[in-house]
Amino acid sequence: MPYEAVIGLEIHIQLLTNSKAYSSDSAEYGGLPNTHVSAITLAHPGTLPKHNKMVIEKAVTLGLALNCEITRFNQFDRKNYFYADLPKGYQITQDKTPICRGGFVKVKLSDGSEKKINITRIHMEEDSGKSMHDQDLADTLVDYNRAGVPLVELVSEPELRSAEEAYQYVSEIRKLVRYLGICDGNMEEGSMRCDANVSIRPIGSTEFGTKVEIKNMNSISNVKRAIESEVIRQTEMTEKGEVFYSETRGFNALKGNTFSLRSKEAANDYRYFPEPDLPPFVVSEEYIQKVKEVMPALPEHLYLQLKNEFGLSDYDALTITDDKYLAEFYISITKHSQNYKAAANWTLGAIKSHLNETATDIINFKLNPSAIADIIQLIDKGQLSNTAAAQLVFPEMLKSIDKSALQISEALNVIQSNDTNFIGQLIQDVLSKYPEKVTEYKEGKKGLLGLFVGEVMKASKGKADPKMVNSEMIKALE
Ligand code: ADP
Ligand code: MG
Repeated sequence: MPYEAVIGLEIHIQLLTNSKAYSSDSAEYGGLPNTHVSAITLAHPGTLPKHNKMVIEKAVTLGLALNCEITRFNQFDRKNYFYADLPKGYQITQDKTPICRGGFVKVKLSDGSEKKINITRIHMEEDSGKSMHDQDLADTLVDYNRAGVPLVELVSEPELRSAEEAYQYVSEIRKLVRYLGICDGNMEEGSMRCDANVSIRPIGSTEFGTKVEIKNMNSISNVKRAIESEVIRQTEMTEKGEVFYSETRGFNALKGNTFSLRSKEAANDYRYFPEPDLPPFVVSEEYIQKVKEVMPALPEHLYLQLKNEFGLSDYDALTITDDKYLAEFYISITKHSQNYKAAANWTLGAIKSHLNETATDIINFKLNPSAIADIIQLIDKGQLSNTAAAQLVFPEMLKSIDKSALQISEALNVIQSNDTNFIGQLIQDVLSKYPEKVTEYKEGKKGLLGLFVGEVMKASKGKADPKMVNSEMIKALE
């Protein structure tokens, strides 16, 4: 019997704020262990949490970008459980009133089609500290720097149907949070964490099967691998007539398989109740409008702008907007040059290759967008060939960033001459050098044009514009 996968994802997104969710302790990543910890983070008796406006603003920003409905009346709830890295003995989260509900994200699939994935909810909560099991021989040590760092949890409907769809969904969410500047999206460092809920069912069935939750994947490709292997495991068990139970599993990236962590039957009863130490708050219509006004451009909008206004191909528009900072660089080039296609070619060609080769991020790229626009202009004016620009001028510009494209081209002696007199003279020289070939050409051997043009280019020492030589040569021959 053929089966299909049913997948829903829960993504924890660490918000880029200066201070923690309910205290003024630094929320910065890293730092020596237990240095971002006041009495509030450590949950000393009598301490009180406070709201952080930036957390609410970023959560609303994400909700608006995902087309969610923003909850007006918000409260926080206590989720009670005991763990060494949870100093209060409970986590402050939102249970009954997630700040965002509904909404959707469109993901692009590898066959070029688009699929709409609905969002169930986004709620605000706090991160726990970190237990470190490998720092001491005998004991587990705890670092509370991360305790209280703000998170939002984004829960999808169980609408993903393959590991590939899940991969595209997480990629889209990561791209979005980076564009919005609300999270760095770094899964390796744990600032974005994904839990995958996976079940299978016979194709055609409308009921859900028993789900398994997989945790601790530290990259998007591992999310994909974990789901792939889990779907195979569940399918094989089902085909053998074996029953499996709802449980939490981990993913072993080396072996490429999932393993049991704990069964869901023994799940905690969290005893949620409204957090009495934080007053409820109301999100007003004016507030939502204000957040909308300062919201950065979304990748989707930018992609459409590059396609419709700048006339770029689907591929170019998609590849450029895949990275927020690359897109910003591209847009800056177009502020100085209206040759949008050339700007795209430079961005995705020479610049991207250079960044890949030197393992540099576009943020640290040395040249200004206007310098790239200058090269494009020299080419468009026929003063520089594409080849000389990419192979000689561009690499030299990276070495001497204080010099202009023109200065470097002149120093390299690659400025092409557009002087028709100069080119006309060279053409006449070549034609009188090969009288028989000229006759052969006139009798129909048109392929000889290449020879004539080549000779002129040689005589010009590469300074003539090949396009112009070509057209002038045809004129002279006819
Ligand atoms: P839990 O209480 O175990 O966390 P939820 O009902 O809150 O479960 O769902 C958590 C996630 O699991 C959501 O993303 C949801 O879409 C997904 N999910 C729910 N049921 C299934 C299922 N049968 N198969 C796969 N994913 C599911
Ligand atoms: Mg869950």
